[in-house]
Amino acid sequence: MKRIGVLTSGGDAPGMNAAIRAVVRSAIYNGVEVYGIRKGYAGLLAGDFIEMSLGSVGDIIHRGGTILRTARSEEFKTKEGMEKAVNNIKQLGIEGLVVIGGDGSFRGAAELANRGIPTIGIPGTIDNDIPFTDYSIGFDTAVNTVVEAVNKIRDTATSHERTFIIEVMGRESGHIALYSGVACGAETILVPEKPYTIKNVCDKIMSGYKRGKLHSIIILAEGAGNAFEIGQKIKEVIGLETRVIVLGHLQRGGTPTAFDRILASQMGGKAVELLLNGVSNKMIGWVKGELIVTDLEKIFSAQKPLNEELYNLASVLAI
Ligand code: ATP
Repeated sequence: MKRIGVLTSGGDAPGMNAAIRAVVRSAIYNGVEVYGIRKGYAGLLAGDFIEMSLGSVGDIIHRGGTILRTARSEEFKTKEGMEKAVNNIKQLGIEGLVVIGGDGSFRGAAELANRGIPTIGIPGTIDNDIPFTDYSIGFDTAVNTVVEAVNKIRDTATSHERTFIIEVMGRESGHIALYSGVACGAETILVPEKPYTIKNVCDKIMSGYKRGKLHSIIILAEGAGNAFEIGQKIKEVIGLETRVIVLGHLQRGGTPTAFDRILASQMGGKAVELLLNGVSNKMIGWVKGELIVTDLEKIFSAQKPLNEELYNLASVLAI
């Protein structure tokens, strides 16, 4: 194998740059040229390629976002788009492709693999909603960002004796809410995977106040309900002021944690190793401290379960 490509696709995540760096440096170390494809599959169709050198990935390991940029492309999903993408890859002499992204990006990677382009997926999304890996790149940083924000909110929550509802990212999954909720000592964690009633939420707040708590922190995954509506209902039931904070896109940015940088570096190095060994149509995961390899197809029919043990522990600790 003489030349490979690397792209980032879907939502950006802190640590993607560390993964790009690892792919580029591992490949060059092994005598393989690397082309960076800018703006994901959109760039693949537009021929937006750049040859990567050792220096091109210098000074990026600590930066959030992705130097290759990212995008979503509807055209790529069409038959014509897919054919154009395969042609562009072949014309450039790219013999293997590393795709850093989420579930949708992997579907694209699998389509390419089925058309004869060797591909390896690296899970990069703050949502951590990809099965067959304990962590995806960016999740740890996002959780730490939420924790930092909540630390600050706690100060004012305590001073004013208020209930705060903090909405975090996670339209279909509550991983960020659960992990940050546990790390923040939130009284209540609301996630899409677990039904809840406003009555239960209010009962918990009231029992906390009765035993002398000065504030109540509710961490809400965005897919588990509308924060403002929930806040209004709580106010109606218990008559106490609630405040809503939507953390939004600030969870996507920032310098990646050491954990994310190490994870990204390991996965980037492994992706190159796999391509050089003729492996294709797989995703690299990190399970119980070890890198594992899973068929991309298996990922599409599986769901990443919420960490039940952690969820139950969160309820116990919020007594
Ligand atoms: P995130 O989880 O951050 O949203 P993602 O990789 O799931 O990341 P998507 O927008 O779902 O993000 O997918 C990124 C791109 O992958 C799409 O814009 C499209 O070009 C390609 N893609 C998505 N689904 C498919 C599919 N079924 N077949 C081919 N390509 C796809």
